[in-house]
Amino acid sequence: MHECRAAVITEHNKPLEIQKVPIPDLEPGALLVKIVASTLCGTDVHRWHGPLGNSDSLPIITGHEPCGVIEDFNGERTDILGNKLKRGDRVIWSYVACGSCYYCSVAMQPCICRGRASWGHNRCDEFPYLLGSVSEFMYVPPECLIIKVPDEVSSGSAAAAACAYRTVMHGYDMLGAIKDHETVVIQGSGPLGNFATAVAKDHGAKKVLTLGAPGHRLEVSKKMGADDVLNIQEVTDAQDRKDWVKDHTDGRGADIVIQVATNAAVAEGLTMLRDGGRYLDIGAGGKGTIAVESMPQEMTYLTVRSGEPRHWLQAVEFLASRRDRFPFDDMISKSYKLEEVNEAMSAMANFEVVKPVINF
Ligand SMILES: [Zn+2]
Ligand SMILES: [Zn+2]
Repeated sequence: MHECRAAVITEHNKPLEIQKVPIPDLEPGALLVKIVASTLCGTDVHRWHGPLGNSDSLPIITGHEPCGVIEDFNGERTDILGNKLKRGDRVIWSYVACGSCYYCSVAMQPCICRGRASWGHNRCDEFPYLLGSVSEFMYVPPECLIIKVPDEVSSGSAAAAACAYRTVMHGYDMLGAIKDHETVVIQGSGPLGNFATAVAKDHGAKKVLTLGAPGHRLEVSKKMGADDVLNIQEVTDAQDRKDWVKDHTDGRGADIVIQVATNAAVAEGLTMLRDGGRYLDIGAGGKGTIAVESMPQEMTYLTVRSGEPRHWLQAVEFLASRRDRFPFDDMISKSYKLEEVNEAMSAMANFEVVKPVINF
């Protein structure tokens, strides 16, 4: 049986091992993809530190943000736009919902399908083995929709589109139009926050205000379209931060606040929102109490999880078509080799890097 090398979590909090993992035979419609780049995400670190939800079976190949080239097929396949795929095409691919549960078929909210497959937490000692992205190859199940990566988009940015950026696109999809007079506050200056900053600016916000830390991330926020930034390590008082937003919005508060930092930022974010405004909470839904002193009147609260296949497409199209306006590759902070996966994971866990990429 053929094998390839992959970064495997065998025990929580212990160094990952580079192991040989079987390359499976392809089911009809499945693809085998040779990974070019895999970015890491906060979820990979959480999953390394301990079980997430009820999926606690190890060993797993870490990583869920892959970009690669098609190595092999079983049968003809087309991409999400109906174009025929061929070997060597550079692609990313969507998650798979079951299609038949209440959320998939009645509510039409497949991102909360309980039977949804995703990457980076499937056992790698059973078929189809290769469902984590820090690996020389990945198995792409037949149900996945395939998105071709435009030549102008780097593999690192495309990999980040496979989780971080498509989730942001899903958020903007739910949010709806941004009007020309509206001010958007972004809570967070990591890859999601900075990508969200660019989209807000591009979608026509009058002003985009990004809060985050440390300073070097906020420098990227400015390049991504933030009209003004606030360093939360320097301005440590929540009242001062709220006042900063009010000063920028004629005392009303922002029309839209987008949270891409942590659940702990929600209560403060709500104080920055005007009455009647829209609060978009990206990646929420975790555990923990959010103590809110007061809610703006007539506000809308939106939460978003993951993305639908079209959001993968929207993310790469945004990267391709807005590349002259925003320096997307500045968000990919450091590059590692497969053998350096432990350095990359530690650097991420210690907040030394924003968005590490493993290049193959
Ligand atoms: Zn992710
Ligand atoms: Zn379902």
